[in-house]
Amino acid sequence: MLFRKSHDTAAYPVQKSEAEWRAELSPEAYRVLREHGTERAGTSPLNAEKRPGTFHCAGCGQPLFDAATKFESGTGWPSFWAPREGAVGTTSDRSFFMVRTEVHCANCGGHLGHVFPDGPQPTGQRYCMNGVALRFEPGGD
Ligand SMILES: [Zn+2]
Repeated sequence: MLFRKSHDTAAYPVQKSEAEWRAELSPEAYRVLREHGTERAGTSPLNAEKRPGTFHCAGCGQPLFDAATKFESGTGWPSFWAPREGAVGTTSDRSFFMVRTEVHCANCGGHLGHVFPDGPQPTGQRYCMNGVALRFEPGGD
């Protein structure tokens, strides 16, 4: 099974049909969250977001990343060095003949991006996220 999608949708608390997701999400968010797409680098307004606040899943609203863990990676995608506790899951993504670690929302299974081991301290991780898969809410929590 060379190109198996690394997704077991039955395992997530939030369950919706593909038709329901398609109706709720923008076409670009649907492509990323539900079809493992990747937005074009530098297109997300969240790249420039520097206010305190929380980044939520655009699919289900679960809080995923605190603004305090965001950093400028220079990649053109919003990047974080750590997710909120238990907010995301990871699987091995073997598409495109590379092995990458895919990151998805632990609540709805929506695809968010990938994580790479070249981030800043304290974790050394770089969560490279699609901005269209996130929704920012400014303010403390
Ligand atoms: Zn979600």
